[in-house]
Amino acid sequence: MAEAMRSGRRIVIVGGGTAGWMAAAVLARVLKGRYGTIELVESAEIGTVGVGEATIPPIQFLNHLLGIDEVDFVRKTQATFKLGIEFVDWTRLNHRYFHPFGPHGHTIDAVSFHHYWLRQRAKGDTSDIGDYSPSTVAARMGKFQPPAPDARPGGPVIAYAYHFDAGLYAQYLRGIAERNGVKRTEGKIVQVTRRAPDGFIDSLVLENGTRVAGDLFVDCSGFRGLLIGETLKAPYEDWSHWLPCDRAVAVPCEGVAAITPYTRSTARPAGWQWRIPLQHRIGNGHVYSSRFISDDEATATLLANLDGRPLADPRPLRFTTGRRRNSWTKNCISLGLASGFMEPLESTSIHLVQSGLFRMVSLLPRDGFEQATVDEYNRLTNIEYEQIRDFLILHYHAVERDDSPLWNYCRTMEIPDSLRHKIDLFRARGRIARFDEQLFAEPSWVAVFLGQGIQPHSYDPVADVMPEAEVTARLARIREAIRRMADALPTHADFINRHCRAD
Ligand code: FAD
Repeated sequence: MAEAMRSGRRIVIVGGGTAGWMAAAVLARVLKGRYGTIELVESAEIGTVGVGEATIPPIQFLNHLLGIDEVDFVRKTQATFKLGIEFVDWTRLNHRYFHPFGPHGHTIDAVSFHHYWLRQRAKGDTSDIGDYSPSTVAARMGKFQPPAPDARPGGPVIAYAYHFDAGLYAQYLRGIAERNGVKRTEGKIVQVTRRAPDGFIDSLVLENGTRVAGDLFVDCSGFRGLLIGETLKAPYEDWSHWLPCDRAVAVPCEGVAAITPYTRSTARPAGWQWRIPLQHRIGNGHVYSSRFISDDEATATLLANLDGRPLADPRPLRFTTGRRRNSWTKNCISLGLASGFMEPLESTSIHLVQSGLFRMVSLLPRDGFEQATVDEYNRLTNIEYEQIRDFLILHYHAVERDDSPLWNYCRTMEIPDSLRHKIDLFRARGRIARFDEQLFAEPSWVAVFLGQGIQPHSYDPVADVMPEAEVTARLARIREAIRRMADALPTHADFINRHCRAD
């Protein structure tokens, strides 16, 4: 595949949703006009998917790279702060647990904290694992303030991300991209031309006849995958036998109480419902499996479970969970929904755009496309997708629920060998399997394993080395330091009102 790129490299991004504008902003910022030109084509007539409001902490790296001022960004995107996700009714009805951002406690003598907690618990300690997580304790109290840059080393630090209006975020990034030299072209692509004999994409033809030529195409065209799927026919791997939800209905509503600093996910008989508080409204959606509930029933369930008055008509969405086997095919790299989709249970889609982009920057072609580079991009992308897939399946599979056909199916289904291994390893001695390109680190797996009722039979024997009195004292000190830190914080609502209320 040693195809020469023409001099004056031309990157063409198809799509102006969150993925397209993230790509444009990052590439423009990193390449500084010295690699070639960047052009983004979008069609107002087609529009964007318009959902995607919850994020995870690595988005702070992206915002930092783009030179974004946090207060300005929170104001302009109606954002709030997110400390984790509360899962309600997942394990069983009337049960809830919290998946926080950041660690529980800290590693002691190379042994992860949760092993000491498991050891103490085996001896009768009743403290909750969440008592050792700064984000959990602050979330329970509805408190938040970003940690000071000079926070005491070793002291408790809150990890956080954001909830925001995805449309406003895309506009925010568009401003950055255009200021950094990205050319925006409005128009509907009606034809994609390919060159002989290798079938690489040559140009896009717009409805008004304009031709946009390029060397490297970034497909951010949404679910349809205009270039990667419709043009290049890159195969799509369907994972709906493991993650059977295939539809969603979304509706914003009025907020009637103080803004909570976390997402809530409530399991329903044929899926689950998200609740994402923004400054000006609450985003809600019901993700469900069309095998187990009709669209009308799913919408009725959503509308019956809102905090306040709906602010728009319910919006239906359809998807097939899975991914492109090769997100990079020929001279096209797909990002966002064009590359694959996993339901927003752990808010991973926007992050997958970010990590795909960073990977792309680290493997950017220069004068041609080497197959080894393309293979490496696809290898790393596939590992990341599979790790997230396993994490999501865990939520569905490790349940006691037997009150509906969806839960009976998920509880008893075959799961990937890779997840089976992770569950067996944790059950045996609380250990977490480690992989490269793993987005969710040990604390996340621990929180969800325990939350979903998977109890380890034992713990790491090295945790027994420390005398019991010392472990007891250390755990008490950690709990106390976190409680004191959280006590001193303002409420999340007060912090926003004082520092970053939208105009
Ligand atoms: P889109 O927003 O669909 O954008 C596609 C772009 O391509 C548009 O600009 C369109 O005009 C353009 N286009 C398409 N065809 C043509 C053509 N022929 N000519 C010209 N232009 C064209 N992610 C999260 O991280 N957190 C969440 O909480 C979350 N919640 C979600 C909930 C649901 C129900 C769904 C479905 C997704 C959710 N996501 C979430 C995912 C998130 O919405 C997307 O990852 C993100 O918005 C990126 O979308 P996109 O830019 O790939 O596609």
